[in-house]
Amino acid sequence: MAAKRPDTGTLYCSFCYGSEHEVKALVAGPGVYICDACTELSQRAIKGKKIPSFPGPAALDADRLLDRLAPASFAVSAAERSLRDQVGALRQKNVTWEQIGAALGTSRQAAHQRFSD
Ligand SMILES: [Zn+2]
Repeated sequence: MAAKRPDTGTLYCSFCYGSEHEVKALVAGPGVYICDACTELSQRAIKGKKIPSFPGPAALDADRLLDRLAPASFAVSAAERSLRDQVGALRQKNVTWEQIGAALGTSRQAAHQRFSD
């Protein structure tokens, strides 16, 4: 879910969509990035402290929403690729479509149709 805007190459936090130009640091994970501010919020949440929720789309102006659209779409695509990689690894470990479907809360047939190419 690497939230990278394809047209500019700018990296974005996958949580708050702050660009690499707006945050102090971005930490990369498997398909995702998290910024320093979101990391601090997560540390507070882990310690049981209340944290503010991320502002919803209605709180942002149109230009900001348009700027975040491509990274959000890219993040969804990256998450789908990561999911497919996980299912592929499970199939190589001889995990059945029934088990995969159950783990996803769907049927064996639906899981097979979704992930077999
Ligand atoms: Zn962030």
